[in-house]
Amino acid sequence: MTKYHPYSKPDQVEALKFALLRRVAAYCMWLHAGLIGVFWHLEVNILALVNVGSVLMWYAGIKLIDASKPSIALRVFCLEVAIHATLVCAYLGMSLGFQYYLWTVSCLMLLDYQLRLRNAVIYSVVLITLFAVLELLFGDVAYQYRYQQLIPYVHFANVLICGIPMIYTISHIRKMTVQQRDKLEELAAHDPLTQMFNRRYARELITHAKENCISTHSPLCLVMADIDHFKKINDTFGHDKGDQILKSVAETIKAHIHPADIAVRWGGEEFLIVLAPCSSGEAMQRMEKLRRAVETTSFENDILKVTMSFGVANWDPSQTFEVVIQHADAALYDSKHSGRNRVTAAPILRVSEGVS
Ligand code: GH3
Ligand code: MG
Ligand code: MG
Repeated sequence: MTKYHPYSKPDQVEALKFALLRRVAAYCMWLHAGLIGVFWHLEVNILALVNVGSVLMWYAGIKLIDASKPSIALRVFCLEVAIHATLVCAYLGMSLGFQYYLWTVSCLMLLDYQLRLRNAVIYSVVLITLFAVLELLFGDVAYQYRYQQLIPYVHFANVLICGIPMIYTISHIRKMTVQQRDKLEELAAHDPLTQMFNRRYARELITHAKENCISTHSPLCLVMADIDHFKKINDTFGHDKGDQILKSVAETIKAHIHPADIAVRWGGEEFLIVLAPCSSGEAMQRMEKLRRAVETTSFENDILKVTMSFGVANWDPSQTFEVVIQHADAALYDSKHSGRNRVTAAPILRVSEGVS
């Protein structure tokens, strides 16, 4: 199985799978023990004897799982089912439906991730071929023991017992696949510390936001925001405290944006906020509110306060993303140079709207 690193944790899904397998194996062992009596009663002594062998194989498999060799155990179980199904079909015929167990175990083989896919497929194909061969070999063997009237019911029960684990397993795999796909998407889109969108993922969202604003003729604004003197905070209170502050500032930003806005962790202590749709005047007001919210949050029993500087740029549809980012950056630079802890509009905005 693929591991990222020799010290990486064992796969929890695998552990769960094999715990389940152990439970099923114990159930099968007792079932086969019961079948010894059934075949004895039917006077098919050879099959009673076969079941003694089956009990021993299931028991050995359980011991292999306990000895952390679940993959070998799974192969032992598949071998047991193959031998058992063949002998039962040879002696009792196909009408009881014991051959369907070969379908179930061929699916199980594919779930053994310790086997290379190619080998798992080969084993699976061998088991399905055996299923086909049994029909050719024993298709006309007739059941000639007691309780002939029960044949359809045994067949019915066998089909269900074989089919339900397949439905259960495939639905479980589907659930896990969807969960893992969502988790991967989430990981790929977000910055792990702040849970904001990361730079790479945000580009796609921003392009969509711009297209949407163009088509609806709505204004769109871009904001660059940067925590003031963050290096000093790190140096004074430590990097971990710095991380906590970053998280807290990110939460404050998230609390001040609308669902359609896009908040991105752009760099270390720098954030990009896309307000869409939003006029430049409104953007200035909203960022001023956010600036105050950051300023009034205190840390370390009120001895630490954090402030943030902002640069707001209106995104004219004719401008590229790079250009408007430059404008927002220039406005942020102005904020920093005029004393920090303030919101500044980019020059174009200042001329057209008269806000500073
Ligand atoms: P200015 O007001 O001019 O923005 O000053 P500043 O100190 O905030 O800016 P500077 O660029 O000098 O320093 C940024 C600091 O942010 C340096 C870096 O160690 C810190 N930083 C970047 N990313 C992280 C992070 O993920 N966690 C922590 N704790 N610190 C970070
Ligand atoms: Mg800074
Ligand atoms: Mg910075």
